[in-house]
Amino acid sequence: MEIRTRFAPSPTGDLHIGGARTALFNYLFAKSMKGKFLLRIEDTDLKRSKSSLTEKIINDIKWLNIPWDEEIVFQRQNRNKHKQIIDYLLEKGLAFKCFAKKENHTESNIEKIGTREPAFRSPWRDLSKNTQPNKQYVVRFKVPSDPSRINFTDKVRGELSWDLSTIEDFVIARSDGSSTYNLAVVVDDHNMKISHVIRGEDHLTNTVKQLLVYQALNWVTPEFAHIPLIHNERGEKLSKRDGKSSLLDFKQEGFLPDAMLNYLARLGWSYKDEEFFNLNQAISWFTLDGVGKSPSRFDIKKLLNISKKHLISKPADEIHKLLLQYIKIYKNISLSESFSEKLRQYLPLVVERCTSLGEIFEASSFLFEADELRDKKALALLDDNSRKIISNFVYAIKSANFAWNSKLLNEFINAYCQESSLKFRDIGIPLRIALTGSTSSPSIVHIMEILGKHQTLDRLNMNVD
Ligand code: GLU
Repeated sequence: MEIRTRFAPSPTGDLHIGGARTALFNYLFAKSMKGKFLLRIEDTDLKRSKSSLTEKIINDIKWLNIPWDEEIVFQRQNRNKHKQIIDYLLEKGLAFKCFAKKENHTESNIEKIGTREPAFRSPWRDLSKNTQPNKQYVVRFKVPSDPSRINFTDKVRGELSWDLSTIEDFVIARSDGSSTYNLAVVVDDHNMKISHVIRGEDHLTNTVKQLLVYQALNWVTPEFAHIPLIHNERGEKLSKRDGKSSLLDFKQEGFLPDAMLNYLARLGWSYKDEEFFNLNQAISWFTLDGVGKSPSRFDIKKLLNISKKHLISKPADEIHKLLLQYIKIYKNISLSESFSEKLRQYLPLVVERCTSLGEIFEASSFLFEADELRDKKALALLDDNSRKIISNFVYAIKSANFAWNSKLLNEFINAYCQESSLKFRDIGIPLRIALTGSTSSPSIVHIMEILGKHQTLDRLNMNVD
C-alpha cells in the first residue's frame, strides 16, 4: 500500500506554527516511507476562506521547502461529490433532515465532551419522512447507539475508546446544502487515498465523528495519528496573544527555513539526542513512535540557539545572498553594488553574534542607512568631550599617510593613544558611535577598513562641531 499523507489547511488566517509543524510531520512521515505528501486547501467555508490567504499559506509551505506531490486539491471543487454522499447517507437512513431550531441547541451546549452528560440527539432522527415540514433544515449524521463505544488505535496515543453518547448528532450539511468539515474531509481523504491522517490532538472528537462516517459508508479507514498541541511558556495553547505564533512572524524576523524546520521537527518529536539537523536527516530518522504524547513547549531560546547554528553553518556567500533577499523583501531596500560589497566584507565580523537575518540586518544597517538617521542616533550618545576627541583624531588621521587597512589602523590608533595619553576605549567608543550610531559593534578598525578612508572621515566630520 502506498503511504499517502496530506496537509489540509483552511485558508482563514496566516499559517500557525502548529499548522506548519503538522505539515512537516506529514511530509517527514510520507517521505520516510517513500510515500506521497499531498496538499489540500479546505476552502468550503465560503464566508471565511480568502484566496489571498490561500496564496499566503501556499507560499509559506514553499518557503519551508517542503514540496508536495501531485496537484493541490481545492476542496471547494469537490462540492458535488460531498453532496452525493450526503444524499446517499440520507437515502440509507444513516443521516436525517433536522428541522429543530438552531438556538435550542447551539454547538457549545450540545457537545459536552468529558462531562459524561449525553450529547444532543435530535428529535428528528427517528421521525418518518412524511412528518417533515416544508422548512429549512440541516442534515445530521445519526450517531448509532449500538455499539455504544468506538475503539481505535492512534499511532501516537495508542488504544483509544470513545463513548458515543458524548457525540451529538452532528451536522453534515448546512441549511444551504453545503457539506461541513467532518463530511467533506472523509470524502476527500477517501478519494485522495490518504493512508495516514496526521494532525493536532484538538481534532480527536472530529476523528471519532469521521470514523463513524467511514463505518457508515463501509470505507476503509486511514490510520490516525494525533500530535500533541504546542504550548506557550505558561503551559497554555500557543496563540496570537503570544506575539509570534504564525510562520510569517518568524519569516519577517529573518529566521532561515532550515532553522524553522529543524526547530518545528523537534517540537514534539525526537530522535536520540539529535538537536541540530537538516531535512534529509529528519526524513531518514522520522517515525511516528518518535512523537511524544505530552504537549511541547515553544521555547524561543531553543529556537534562537538552533537558528544561530544554522546561520553559522552556511557559507558566507550564501548568507550574503539570503540577506540581500531578506532586506529587499522585508525592509524594502535594494542595495547598490558598493553597499552590497561592504555588507559582504562585514558579514564575517557579525554573523557569529547573530541568530537571524533580522539581527544581522540590525547590526549592519549602519553601513547603508541614511546619514541623518545615524547622525541622530550618534548625537544622542556623544557628549562634548567625545566630540573633542573625535575632532582631534580626525585632524591627526587626515594627514597620516598609510594603507587603509585594519592592521595599520590599529597601529595608528595605538600610537595616537600613547601620544595623547588616552586609552584605546577613550577613542574607540566615540569612534564607534560616530561611525555606526551605536555603542556596540565588532572591531572598530575593521569597520573603518570596510567604510574606507573617505567615508570614515565624512562620518566622523559629521559629528564634530
Ligand atoms: N482544515 C482543517 C484544519 O485546518 C484540517 C484538519 C484535518 O487535518 O483534517 O484544521
